[in-house]
Amino acid sequence: MASSTLSSFLRRSLTELRDRGLYQQIDSLEGPNGPVISMRGRSFVNLSSNNYLGLATDSRLAEAAVEATVRYGVGSGAVRTINGTLALHAELEEKLAAFKGTEAAVAYPSGFNCNMAAISAVMDAGDAILSDELNHASIIDGCRLSKANVIRYRHSDMDDLRAKAREARESGRYAKIMAITDGVFSMDGDIARLPDIADIAEEYDLITYVDDAHGSGVLGGGAGTVKHFGLTDRIDLQIGTLSKAVGVVGGYVAGTRDLADWLKARSRPFLFSTSLPPGAVAASIAAIGLVAGSPELLGRLWDNAEYLQRGLRELGYALGPTETPITPCLVGDEEMTQRLSASLYEKGVYARAIVFPTVPRGAGRIRNMPTAGHTKEMLDLALAAYGEAGRELGLIP
Ligand SMILES: *Cc1c(COP(=O)(O)O)cnc(C)c1O
Repeated sequence: MASSTLSSFLRRSLTELRDRGLYQQIDSLEGPNGPVISMRGRSFVNLSSNNYLGLATDSRLAEAAVEATVRYGVGSGAVRTINGTLALHAELEEKLAAFKGTEAAVAYPSGFNCNMAAISAVMDAGDAILSDELNHASIIDGCRLSKANVIRYRHSDMDDLRAKAREARESGRYAKIMAITDGVFSMDGDIARLPDIADIAEEYDLITYVDDAHGSGVLGGGAGTVKHFGLTDRIDLQIGTLSKAVGVVGGYVAGTRDLADWLKARSRPFLFSTSLPPGAVAASIAAIGLVAGSPELLGRLWDNAEYLQRGLRELGYALGPTETPITPCLVGDEEMTQRLSASLYEKGVYARAIVFPTVPRGAGRIRNMPTAGHTKEMLDLALAAYGEAGRELGLIP
């Protein structure tokens, strides 16, 4: 029999969410998550995926996945430390380390998993973590799991970080202190100030940790934000995802050989969660090869991003501090944000509203994600829809 405490809790909580307009309906795609998607029998220009380079729908990756699946099976059969490490996993990790320019890399079932794994493997009670206030949810959860004292600093405010690093160091209370940040902030598209963070880390002896989920495959010739700044030797832990620009699923931690050995011995998702399936690993290996070997793929992504951003700015939209293809149209009011998204939908453009609690209250926006797979015609259709919808709603002149 169902627990009445649970069912009344669920009913009350769901009603409250729905009443506040915060319950999100989830739409299902009727085909691949490419530059054009189909839903409810209609097609839409898709501006909401993380498929930056179009690799999620690339036939070469699909072929690699099928071939490995036929050869090795659909599942890997065990966790990494028992016998779920195929030669393919080792090959992927070698390719990732070479691509990142680090000694080693360790793959996990997801990027989220990496933060569950790596933070608590190196930090503990008695340590402190200096964390940017806009860090991703998985960093926040990973920090909590570590039991270290988490000290938030104001977003990309290097004076605040330096002051808090000094205070933590001078207190003498902590065995280890880490500075942790997104490489590219996923809701605004701005890049972390890594050269300053590396300097502050040197001054106060901090461990440096960069979660580059949105920088990998996008910045630094694809190798990410750390490479973009030429800081490979000065950042201790780099997290990347195989689920965004790489187009598949999974994540990895890149760093020294000792770091990798320690993560393989002590990080809990590595020890207690079944390893990535062979198809995903083979597709990721193929993807890394394509990213590393096709600068024109990145070129197309950045061209499309510049085209869309210029067009939206000319229409009168505010895009905030973005420095990457992440293209937020800042609206503010939650309800107005939802109305803009709904109007775009009616005009054949799929661009999701992002509102509280993903961003602060009153900071509603539509986050547009141009990809290498979009054509100028698709982006023109999106811009025309933005023009009409914005004028109808009085958001732009
Ligand atoms: C998307 C994202 C993740 C999660 O990666 P998945 O591979 O989708 O689990 C982790 N960190 C950041 C900063 C992200 O943007």
